[in-house]
Formats: sequence, C-alpha cells, structure tokens
Amino acid sequence: MAKLHNVPPEELERQRQYALRVRELLAAKYPTRAPRAFVHTYGCQGNVADGERIEGQLEEMGYEFCDSPENADFALYNTCAVREHAEDRVFGNVGKLKNYKQKNPDMVLALCGCMMQQAHVRDRIYKSYPYVNLVFGTHVLHRLPELLYETLTGPRRVVCAPDSPGEIAEHLPVRRTGGVKAWLPIMYGCDNFCSYCVVPYVRSRERSREPEDVLCEARGLIASGCREITLLGQNVNSYGKGNVSGLNFAGLLRELNALPGDFKLRFMTSHPKDCTHELLETIAACDKVSKHLHLPVQSGNDRVLAAMNRRYTRAQYLDLVADAKATVPGLSLTSDIIVGFPGETYAEFCDTLSLVEAVGYTSLFTFIYSPRVGTAAAKLPDPVSHKEKTEWFAQLTALQEKIAAGARAQMRGRTYTVLVEGRAKAGGALLAGRTDGNIMLEFPGDPALIGTYQNVRVTDAGHWTLLGERTTDAPER
Ligand code: SAH
Ligand code: SF4
Repeated sequence: MAKLHNVPPEELERQRQYALRVRELLAAKYPTRAPRAFVHTYGCQGNVADGERIEGQLEEMGYEFCDSPENADFALYNTCAVREHAEDRVFGNVGKLKNYKQKNPDMVLALCGCMMQQAHVRDRIYKSYPYVNLVFGTHVLHRLPELLYETLTGPRRVVCAPDSPGEIAEHLPVRRTGGVKAWLPIMYGCDNFCSYCVVPYVRSRERSREPEDVLCEARGLIASGCREITLLGQNVNSYGKGNVSGLNFAGLLRELNALPGDFKLRFMTSHPKDCTHELLETIAACDKVSKHLHLPVQSGNDRVLAAMNRRYTRAQYLDLVADAKATVPGLSLTSDIIVGFPGETYAEFCDTLSLVEAVGYTSLFTFIYSPRVGTAAAKLPDPVSHKEKTEWFAQLTALQEKIAAGARAQMRGRTYTVLVEGRAKAGGALLAGRTDGNIMLEFPGDPALIGTYQNVRVTDAGHWTLLGERTTDAPER
C-alpha cells in the first residue's frame, strides 16, 4: 500500500543523482583536499535530528566537517524560531560570517530550519544579509543536493521554503555524533496550535513515520552499538494518526521494547491531553522504557491554560500525574513552563508555583514568554513588564532548585544503574552517566566504561552535581 506522507522514491533517486553531480563539482573545485562543511544547529532535538540528516547528505556529497565556520567552504545554520532569543543569536552569528566570506568569496553560506519558514525572516535575510547564498525551509531537507547544485552553478541566490502539508523523506543518509545515544524522530509537525507557539506554522501538520520505518532505523541503531534511543515528536502521544498501520504510540513502544539487545528507550514530548492510561501501563510494563515522563504543563492556572489553548485543566493535569505516579512506581517527571504569558497576573503565576510544589518535578525547563509573529497570543495585550516577569521567573527557578535539592539529598547512599555517556563536563577523571529517571551522576572510572551500564552509589549530593562511586550493590532502579 502507498505510504501516505512519504516523498516518492523517484524524487529521492533524483536527489541522489544531484548528490553525485555535486560530488563531481566539488572534486574538481578542491582537487587536493576534501571540501569542509560547518553545520550548527539551534533549538530542540527535532532540529538536531534534522541536522544529522543534513550532515549525512553533505557527507554523501563529499564534505568533511569542521568545528568553526572560519575555515569552512560551506557553512550552515539550522535555525530555531521558538523564542526570540534563539532568533537573535542566529542573526548575530550570520552577521559575523560576513568577514569569513570576504576572505573566502567561494564559501557557500546557507540557512535552514524553522526561522526560514517565516516570510518576514526571509525578507530580512534577503535585504540585510546579501552574502547568504542559500536558504531552505523545513519541508525540503531532502532536496539539499539539488539546491546546493543550483547554488554552486547558478548566478543567483537560491531560496526554497515552500509551505507544505508536510512529507516524510525516508532513507536519507544520517550522520550521528551522539555516541551511545541516538535521536529517532517518529513523527513531524504539530496540529495543536497552542496559542503562543510557532511550531505548527513552521513545521506544518502532524504526520507519523510508519512503524516499519521506525523499527528498521531502531534495529540499525542497536546493531551499531547504540544504547539509548530517544523517540522524538512534538506530541508523541498522538503518534500514528492517519497511518496505514493504525498502531498507536503505546503499541509502537511495545514493538520497540521487544527488539533484542541491551538498550533503553526514552521519548519526548508527551502532551498531557493525549497521555492515556494505556501509555502509562506500557511504560510500567516495558523493561527497556525509562521510567521518565516529560509532561509539559506550561501553567498551573486554568484561565491561562485555556488562553494557551492547552486543552486540559489544572485538576485534569494533577489527576494524570497521580495516575502516572501510581501506575509507574518511582516515575521521574519533568516539565516545561512558560512565565508571563500575555495577561497572566501574579496571582495566576502563583498557581504555577503551587502546582510545581504539588507535583515535585525532577527538573524543569522554564521560559519567559516570547511573542511569535503570526500566533494568536502575539495579538493579546501584555501589560506585565519584562522586569517583573524576570522576577517571577527567578522565584520559579528558586522553588524548583529547592525541590530538586531535597530530592538530590534523598538520593545519597542509594544505588542507581546509569548509562555511562562520556567524561564529565568539568573534565578531570570523572565519568558521567544518567539514571533511568534522567538524572546525571558523576563518578571516577575508566573511559573504557563509556557505553556500558554501571551501578553507582551516590556519595555526595552537591549543589548541582551528584557524585558517586561504582558499586556491586543492587540498584534501586
Ligand atoms: N511540543 C512540545 C513543546 C515544543 S516547544 C509540547 O507541547 O510540550 C518547547 C517548549 O518551548 C514549550 O513546551 C514551551 O514551554 C516553550 N515555548 C514554546 N513557545 C514559546 C514562546 N512563544 N515563548 C516562550 N516559550 C515557548
Ligand atoms: Fe507548540 Fe503546543 Fe504543538 Fe507543543 S503541542 S509544538 S507547544 S503547538
């Protein structure tokens, strides 16, 4: 049966032919060395996964990769539009590239990702950054070979960012650099239209990969030594809508859990309105699924939740949390929260504080509201000053830190199984690994342990880091 949302194989083949032509062009242009590409991705893990597919295609076209744009022959920023701060950073960095381009006029400068789906951004790039050669949107990643060929051979700048109901390009080459951890997109786009959010506009309608494609990629990852697969989607709980197979997210998790191998599964993000009891039971029952649920609440106040178009109430969210904790013993919960949604009062913000206290999250991602062009919330009056929002924000982060410090203190003396991910950031001889609940522990050990599961007893619950030592004790979880 034809796949509903997939780019046709003929089109993928056409792109492969372009990739070969670009490869030949580059070989002629750089006869003594490989051309160098610099790719920098902003924003969420979905964007990181796109970046891996872009790099896979560039590799196929003959590029090798460098860490700075300074010596690159091709420099690409894969942008994020979710908050203003991320956009400002992109414009700042593109401004800096002008110097490199002056030194190396042959350098191709490209921009892609969510910002490029916005007409006002493309206009600004066109007018103010004339040295940018190539702009492409989120729906045409698979056409990079053709677009790059046009850029390298044509006289003009190439811009391709069509609006589209969205397609899925399977079988693109992927260049992963995540070591023992991998991102695996299971769906794209979003249909929810939360009133503050630009994602449905720049990523288009929700569409899911067919289970066989997800399973095939997962098998390949496990065979190549991957130990932790994080399934990605803006709302994984509605996975499968409109697919040929009819398998829902809980079903997909069960199928992935049944694959042979020594690996763990994580997933994000779960929209509370679509989080079913079946899913909670599946998390509890599947031994390879981490007992961690990222369940963004955004606000603890009913009026604000309605204005955000989140389609659940505080009471419904708290009932769901109670069900989740009862169904999945030891569950670690994390969340996203927006402070200072237009019209939010201090009393309403205090409802968020009390909800955070009531749930007891392991960690939070907190954001000050950022108006996004074209969204419903951007049209609402927003009387509270940024300074005041910043004070509320500090109050929220202080509360969460107090809660997390209490939880960290309780971990002291207990043993957890961690996946050793690499050396600790601070350097030195410490290794870093994450517990099943996604909490980072640092402990002394041989780098040969990277990629293995180890039992670690927490010895010191410091201010930010949890220190531990390897042990033969049985783990709590
Ligand atoms: N699909 C996910 C979230 C994707 S965006 C979900 O529904 O949970 C990641 C987070 O960015 C959101 O959860 C929200 O907390 C934050 N965010 C999105 N738009 C924002 C905006 N305009 N201002 C501030 N934060 C925003
Ligand atoms: Fe944005 Fe809401 Fe969709 Fe998440 S569910 S991506 S917050 S519109």
